[in-house]
Amino acid sequence: MLNPLALLQRLHPLLGLFLLTGALSLAGVVTRPIASLALFWPVNAILLGLLLRRPHLATPAGWAALYLGMVAVDLGTGNDWGSALWLNACNLGLIAAGWWLLSPLPQALLTLKRPQGLLSLFGACFAGAAVAASMACLTTTGWFDDTAWTTWLAWFSEQFSTGLLLLPVVLSAPRRPSLAGLRLAPADVWPLLGLALALLAVLLVGGPGAIAFPMLALLWCALRFRPFTVALLGLLSGVVEIVMVAENLTHFGPLHKGAGVDTLASARLGIAVLTLGPLSVAAVGAFDRRLLRRLARHANHDSLTGALVRRALTQGVERLLERRRHGSDLPISLLMIDLDHFKTINDRHGHAAGDQVLRLLARLLSNLLRREDLFGRLGGEEFVMVLPGVRTDEAMLVAERLRQGVERMEWPEGIRVTVSVGVGSLDDGTAGQPLEQRLARVDEALYQAKAQGRNRVVRAA
Ligand code: GH3
Ligand code: MG
Ligand code: MG
Repeated sequence: MLNPLALLQRLHPLLGLFLLTGALSLAGVVTRPIASLALFWPVNAILLGLLLRRPHLATPAGWAALYLGMVAVDLGTGNDWGSALWLNACNLGLIAAGWWLLSPLPQALLTLKRPQGLLSLFGACFAGAAVAASMACLTTTGWFDDTAWTTWLAWFSEQFSTGLLLLPVVLSAPRRPSLAGLRLAPADVWPLLGLALALLAVLLVGGPGAIAFPMLALLWCALRFRPFTVALLGLLSGVVEIVMVAENLTHFGPLHKGAGVDTLASARLGIAVLTLGPLSVAAVGAFDRRLLRRLARHANHDSLTGALVRRALTQGVERLLERRRHGSDLPISLLMIDLDHFKTINDRHGHAAGDQVLRLLARLLSNLLRREDLFGRLGGEEFVMVLPGVRTDEAMLVAERLRQGVERMEWPEGIRVTVSVGVGSLDDGTAGQPLEQRLARVDEALYQAKAQGRNRVVRAA
């Protein structure tokens, strides 16, 4: 039986797509200078970006919703049926060509997490704009008319430049936008100011070379901001420049139509291509930072348990002590945890089961951690927890809870697991002292716990 709720749920995204397409088209129509091609027709690039980010919308019904949304607005704003159907088929041609080329690519490329994605965006914008321009020529001038090249180029330059400026913004936009992302550090103001001044210089100096003026400021922005912000600034600067050229505020001289290319078309192409430079710098920078974070994670964490390796733990401890030397009288507690008779577990159940016990124990311990705590594996089956701001008597309670937790937990293959724990505070000593010396008293307490029969917590003297 037909379920009206399920039908509504299926229609809902389509209706959303239809309304969004309509709203974008309406905005495009309203801002279009009377009786001329739009200076910017952002609908196509935004919708292409949207489909690439939400591929589940690109069903036959989704495509139909797009097309109907565009046609409805054209009819509603006074266009005749013929041009409404055909002009929007040209728009759809661009979106379909871009979709065909870009949708098979991995998301990491499309969202500019890998800088090579920019080359793909360039190719798709070029191909999409060429398809739309060729389709438009077919009906307006015919392909072999004298004015065909000028018409083709007017369409191509607008669609190509708008796509190249807008698509990176849509594709690199954060999935969950947050106000925190908008916060500016004081040093962020300078490249933004540089960009504003560069755009002013375009206006004051003018001439064809002026379109390159904002590049240095955009490169500066690319060294400070993430790719999305740089794409947004590139869009802003590109739009301002294109409007300046269109209004002849940059004094390029008379529009030169004889050779088939006019100043606006040429400038639009140049402005859009130029912004790819800063954008690739931003994408490479972001890629490097991600890579370094991943490398640091691999270098600092033990691959079996995810706990800090000895070197990273030592560095963390030094940082805490450094903070304490600078004024705070923060207590720093230490837990040394050693599995009891782990060799027997390995011997009885095999090394793989032993590994699994280590993994599960590490998970149990890390669930107890707060953000500021450190958790490391000293090697073998011995772990350390460093708890800043926790006094030794409080740490004793933590250790006892932990010991009981391990004892009560259900371990795989019915293995019985217990731990012995030494508890104490971190020795201040001198900077750069080896970790072993700082841990010596707690290690001694752990040794006593073992000697007293294991599965117990002992406080360092
Ligand atoms: P105690 O109660 O005195 O601590 O006895 P124990 O058997 O736990 O301690 P011992 O130091 O004699 O043995 C530790 C064992 O831990 C020996 C070693 O094979 C095993 N081991 C060390 N690293 C790993 C590892 O990464 N995986 C596994 N499965 N076993 C490990
Ligand atoms: Mg042991
Ligand atoms: Mg041991």
